[in-house]
Amino acid sequence: MMRMTVLASGSKGNSTIIASSRTRILVDAGLSCRELLKRMGLAGEDPSQLSAILITHEHQDHVAGLAVLARRLRIPVFFTEPTHRAWVRMLTPRTTMTYAKWLDHIQREKETRAAAVASGASTYDIAAEAASIAHISAEAANLDSSLSLTRSIYAGADPEAVDPDAEALCDPQPTPAKADPTHLPAVEYFHAGANFSIGDIDITPFTIPHDAADPCGFVFESEGIRMALATDLGYMPPNVKSALKRVDVLLLESNHDLEMLRDGPYPWSVKQRVLSRVGHLSNHATAEFLQNDYDGGASWIVLGHLSESNNAPELARIAAEQALVNHPTLLGNRILLAEQGTPLQPICL
Ligand SMILES: [Zn+2]
Ligand SMILES: [Zn+2]
Repeated sequence: MMRMTVLASGSKGNSTIIASSRTRILVDAGLSCRELLKRMGLAGEDPSQLSAILITHEHQDHVAGLAVLARRLRIPVFFTEPTHRAWVRMLTPRTTMTYAKWLDHIQREKETRAAAVASGASTYDIAAEAASIAHISAEAANLDSSLSLTRSIYAGADPEAVDPDAEALCDPQPTPAKADPTHLPAVEYFHAGANFSIGDIDITPFTIPHDAADPCGFVFESEGIRMALATDLGYMPPNVKSALKRVDVLLLESNHDLEMLRDGPYPWSVKQRVLSRVGHLSNHATAEFLQNDYDGGASWIVLGHLSESNNAPELARIAAEQALVNHPTLLGNRILLAEQGTPLQPICL
């Protein structure tokens, strides 16, 4: 048995539960703790049964309630190390480096590493990296011992996402005002491209092109059933296309309609960012993937991360349906639209 329950999807918050008969993982915690608990209640998911939280990337719509929820449920959080460091930076006011500069810095590190791999240098050893996956949060202490304890919300934050007063009520830390906002019960690291397991769910994280420190999509597998999650990606590179083969449930981004984005309310710079190769997938790009590169194996395709300003659910659905009609072997695929405001009915296989 595997189950996918989308609690929320969209630019104001993302969170999905992936469950097997023994293990339950919350993928992203992009709403306030209080709202996440409420949504779990609505969807019939018991928060006390969650085994872990898994984070795709550090953008606010994926982490808004993370620390408070993890502390309340006392469960570990799985990140890549660059994502964890970027998240700690985001919550840590500092004058020496802004979040944007930090991202630049991370990007340069990535490029150096990619160049080393391309040139065949032996410094990048996947086996050695894989061996260091399960690692507890002592690393966080090395990031900066002089962290200010004041909570800050970085420039990209959505002010609607978190109500600090409600979060204080939700947070079990005895003196929230003095608490370290980045404190987590336990942190474990994974690496894109290296499989790992949480309970009886095997997880394959894959790199996605997006403007964050080290963003990932995932394939989850248990008892022969495979479910994949890929949102927040500027385009469909070959590694993502091949990761999404042979899946039974596919949660895929269908972020914007190109014309609505072009004519919509966003400033030009934001439009450029969304459209870029590290932005978000348009309905058109998603349809193109479904028509040309998708193997048609899924029972369910869930379209997610729809923009409220630059998309309409019917446009996303029509684009995807049209792609499947043009590809007759795919007509067995059923399409669902994930919502921002309410959880989807759990998908059970
Ligand atoms: Zn993002
Ligand atoms: Zn997002």
